Amino acid sequence: MKTNLVVGCGLSGATIARKIAEELNEKVIIIDKKSHIAGNTYDYRDKNGIMIHKYGSHIFHTNLENVWGFVNHFADFNTYMHKVIAIIDGIKTTIPFNIRTLYDVFPKTMAENMEKKLLAKFEYNKKVPILEFQKQDDKDLKFLAEYVYEKVFLHYTAKQWGANPSEVDSAVTARVPVYISCDERYFQDKYQGIPLHGYTNMVKKILNYQNIEVRLNTQYTDIKEAYNRVFFTGSIDEFFNYKYGELPYRSVYFKMEEYDFPYYQNNAVVNYPCNYDFTRIHEYKYYLNDISDKTVIAKEYSEFFEQGKNERYYPIPNEANKKLYAKYLTEAQQMQNIYFLGRLGDYCYYDMDKAINRALELFEQIKGE
Ligand code: UDP
Repeated sequence: MKTNLVVGCGLSGATIARKIAEELNEKVIIIDKKSHIAGNTYDYRDKNGIMIHKYGSHIFHTNLENVWGFVNHFADFNTYMHKVIAIIDGIKTTIPFNIRTLYDVFPKTMAENMEKKLLAKFEYNKKVPILEFQKQDDKDLKFLAEYVYEKVFLHYTAKQWGANPSEVDSAVTARVPVYISCDERYFQDKYQGIPLHGYTNMVKKILNYQNIEVRLNTQYTDIKEAYNRVFFTGSIDEFFNYKYGELPYRSVYFKMEEYDFPYYQNNAVVNYPCNYDFTRIHEYKYYLNDISDKTVIAKEYSEFFEQGKNERYYPIPNEANKKLYAKYLTEAQQMQNIYFLGRLGDYCYYDMDKAINRALELFEQIKGE
């Protein structure tokens, strides 16, 4: 029987491990240097019975039928649809900036005028990235574009990336477009929800299979057994001992606070694009409707990743980093039986569904080899 080593127990590692164990009937040793499975989707119920997302809010959303089918083998999901509230100049509204937002932040006649102009210019339901939205000729739309740029993107992006929106990859800010719609949800995917028993439980079920052995608190270099293939979901530069230099990441720090009252805010996530040093506040009890007299919130602060200090969260997609990653990838491709995947292995800002899909695709690629 072939033996596979999977490095990292997050969604990517767990998915490839399960497919290999179940469909190829091979042995899988899956390791993680952390003391828990599920990577950055790790969640747990605290002493108040509130499901805490240790590494920040994770909302599952996908249009990929195969991915939705896969996760539903291991978890039941609720029908939570995410909305993000933002406080702009003290006014509560929704993000992405949409038609309803106009009416929250501007006087009615001004909002009506802008709505008319927007609908004349853009198709209803169009998602317009801010960097494209800025290119307006009409003076009212120009004003609107500058307003959205300044109030929604500029300071938030400075806090999140330490750079202004034109300096970060356009795909990053395009994740939160200007939405010519009255749909106030954060995502429009067909399938959305939170696993009823949490992500950790879902990953535990993915890994609960006869040929899979999970080893926590274990480094790649601790493995002494022979194996036929390696699937590495850690950072690709680390695998190569940083020989070409370090791939930079943004990290996040969560300041957790507990209160003796049931709710702190009226939504799971509230963004503060213009005020404070944190980017957003998460209140976790909303995701599964946890009932408690207390509540737990997390204020999210962004910072650079530094080895030994914090965790990698976000690859920083820019030309220099893509080039550096390509060097490592070229080296990786010359090796036999080692595969890189996941946000860190591929140095790619995957959402959860895309990480799973990448693992499913990689499985299809290697299964005949
Ligand atoms: N963004 C912003 N203001 C907001 C929300 C998002 O400027 O209120 C920008 C910011 O650059 C952020 C990017 O859009 O990094 C993507 O946001 P998203 O919420 O998708 O990030 P994630 O939830 O993955 O951290």
